This record gives sequence, C-alpha cells and structure tokens, in this order.
Amino acid sequence: MQILNFFLIIFHGKILVHILSFMFEKIIHYLSYDYTIQKMSCLKKSFHIFLIVCLVFKKTIIGCMQVGFIPIAFLYTTTMYDCMIKVAINGYGTIGKRVADAVAAQKDMKVIGVSKTRPNAEAFVAKQRGYPLYIADLSKKAAFEKAGLSVAGSVEDMCKAADVIVDATPGDVGATNKPLYEKLGKKALWQGGEGHEIAGFSFNSSCNYKDAIGRQFVRVVSCNTTGLCRIIHEIDKEYGVAHVHAIMVRRGSDPGEIKKGPIDAVVLDPVSVPSHHGPDVLTVLPHISITTMAMIVPTTMMHMHAIQITTKKPVSRDRVIDLIKNHPRLGLIKKTLGIKSTAELKEFAMDLGRQRSDLWENCIFEESIYANKNELCFFQAIHQEADVVVENIDAIRAMVGLEKDATKSILTTNGAIGLNLIQNNH
Ligand code: NAD
Repeated sequence: MQILNFFLIIFHGKILVHILSFMFEKIIHYLSYDYTIQKMSCLKKSFHIFLIVCLVFKKTIIGCMQVGFIPIAFLYTTTMYDCMIKVAINGYGTIGKRVADAVAAQKDMKVIGVSKTRPNAEAFVAKQRGYPLYIADLSKKAAFEKAGLSVAGSVEDMCKAADVIVDATPGDVGATNKPLYEKLGKKALWQGGEGHEIAGFSFNSSCNYKDAIGRQFVRVVSCNTTGLCRIIHEIDKEYGVAHVHAIMVRRGSDPGEIKKGPIDAVVLDPVSVPSHHGPDVLTVLPHISITTMAMIVPTTMMHMHAIQITTKKPVSRDRVIDLIKNHPRLGLIKKTLGIKSTAELKEFAMDLGRQRSDLWENCIFEESIYANKNELCFFQAIHQEADVVVENIDAIRAMVGLEKDATKSILTTNGAIGLNLIQNNH
C-alpha cells in the first residue's frame, strides 16, 4: 500500500510539475521576448518555479515530503524548464550545417530543426546528427520519406517553433524568406550573400556585438568581410587606421561545388576597383577608409588576403604580433610551422582533428608581418566555410540578449566548439 501511495504521489507531482512548468515557460516567454529574464541562470529560474509550487500546493508538498518527493520534484523541474535558445537553420548547406553543429555544441542553445529542399547527402547528415528535418516544399515529402528521411514539417512549422532563425539559404534566396519571419514575429539572421539592407544591421562579434543586442534582424557579413573587420578593428583600436588597401585572392568554389569554376583562369572579380568587399567593411566599420581589389583563382581551399594598412601612429611589429596572439579570433601562423600555402594550412587543420578541418580564425602569416613607420603589411588566409560560423553563434546570443558582453560570448562560443587558436598548436 505504501509503495502504491508513493507512486501515486510521484504521478500527481509529475503532472503538477508538467502543468506549472508549461505555464511558467509561456508566461516568462511572453513577458520577455528579448529574454531579459533569461539573464538568470536556469537553476535560479527553476528554483523560483519550485518555490511557487511549494507555496501554491503546500498540502501536496507536505504529503510528498514524507516520501522524500521534494528533491525529486526539484530535479525534475530543473530538467523540465527549457531555457535554451531554440534555433532553426533554414538552409542546411555549406554554412547551415556548420552553424547547426556549432549551435548544438553550445550549452545555452539547441537546434530545433534544419531545412532542406531535396533529399541529398546533407539531409542524411542531418538525420545522423539527430536534427529534425523540415522541408521548403511539402509536396516533396514523399520523395524524402522514400529515401528514408522522415519529415518533421514545413519550413513555416520549423520557424514557428524557433526563437531565432539562422537563414543560410543561398544568396538572394534569404531575402524571399523575410516576409515569413516578419509574419511570425521571429528573430532572424542572414548571411553575407544578402545585402546590408535585408536587416539594416551588419554584424561582426569583435566590432559591434553590443549594437546587435535585442535586434530582430541581423546580417552576418561575408567570410572575407569578417576576416577584414577582425584585424582592421584591432589595428584601429591600437594605432588608428588612416587607410586600408586589401587585395583578395578568392577561392573559385567551395570543395563540394562541382559546377563552379574557374578551372584554368585568374578572373578579375570585378575588373573595376573597388571590389564590393571595401564597401561591405563599411557596413560594420563606417569610419574606415578602405580600397579593395579582388580576383578569383582555381582553388577551393581558402581565400588569401594581401593587406596594407596605413596607421595614424607609428606601428610596432612586436606589438601587432601580441595583438594577434591575444585576440580570440585571430590566428598566427608562426615561421616554425613552415607553412606557406592554404593547402598546407587545411592539411594542418585536418591533422589537428578539427571538425571538417575548419579554420574559424584568421590565419595571419607571422613572417609576412612588415611594420615600418606608419605602414603595416601582411598576408592572411581565410577559410570561407568556417570563419562566419562562430559569428553566427555570437549574433544569436546578442539578439536574444542572453549575453551582453562580447568577449564572454566569443569565449563561450570558442570553448564550446573547441577552438584552440592555431598558434597554440605549434
Ligand atoms: P549552399 O548552397 O551550400 O547551401 C544553401 C542550402 O540552402 C542548400 O542546402 C539548399 O538546398 C538550401 N536551400 C535553397 N533554397 C532554399 C529554400 N528556399 N529554403 C530552404 N533551404 C533552401 O550555400 P552556402 O555556401 O551555405 O551559402 C549560404 C549563405 O552563406 C549565402 O548567403 C552565402 O553568400 C553565405 N556565405 C557562404 C560562404 C561560403 O563560402 N560558402 C561563406 C560565407 C557566407
């Protein structure tokens, strides 16, 4: 009989906790769309809920105490209260699949779904990772299911369930999704393939994290712009930047893009000066004077930048090296490594066991750093598929207002994905 009572109490207690957790989640969510309340830790919130349970249902609780229910209920409430940021990834391709894994690695966010247009290899990766799969066109559901991929619903269903949507669809497709995000009143962030006007705010964690706090829409700038902004901002803080001249030698396509070229040409992209990169840097750092030129070459590995910065104050090579070493997203390729190319860099990243051999940090070649009076020159390699991924994670955190401090967010993101800067590996 005592055992029966025990189970009855647990059963009632569980239902109680379920109902209350659900109610409080809704109330808290409603009161704090921008997650001001989420500043409290999960435990604190759960404790509050637990106290209210105690006050409202004193009698049940006293009864439960006799069988030691309180610790069980407390633990149960703690696990029930879901205070992680729910992230949907619309467009599970080169960038989307990486962002999804980076989100899944964070303690304060989780992937609630990813979207695909067709049942290809990436869809199977999503299944293997356990990400619910949503599809843009529900008429293709049968094709997915025939391939052994279960479909959780439409892109709209996925967006409804999310707090933040990371739009990683191809450039210009993302813009067509904006009306949906607006209709649902959801926060969304786009990638650099979209123009600045899509969100009216272009983001880089190291430069303008604070300005992203609480925003509904954000655009994470492109891979090249991200690499430029990180280092230009750092030099600007220390010496003041009078002018930047940067030449981008860009990869022709990503490794998986079999239909793109060139296969035997150096293509000026564009022939005219400046390339779009300079104006794009200005969307993040509007006060910087910058001219950029770009060309595309037959490689898939990484971009290479040749950068020349004229500073307002005389620049010291040693100090620049220190600035790079102390920055959480700037990597230094030391002479001792003996690496002179993007191919060797990617090989090194692979040997280090980095997921997908990703290089999330700028890879600045120490030997190329030249400082003379007010002139600073160097080469940096940028892994186009990776550097923006970590920026997406910080942007999510800023948009929901969960972390107000840029450095804390950057370190949390880096720590969760295991970013041990390249200079610490040689
Ligand atoms: P991608 O083509 O590799 O992936 C896009 C994914 O979106 C594909 O899986 C595609 O099936 C899916 N998709 C297409 N239309 C869709 C729709 N209507 N709804 C849902 N999903 C749809 O593209 P990517 O390289 O990952 O680029 C995504 C964005 O990131 C672009 O804005 C791009 O400019 C930017 N970006 C790309 C790189 C890079 O090097 N690949 C670097 C930085 C930024």
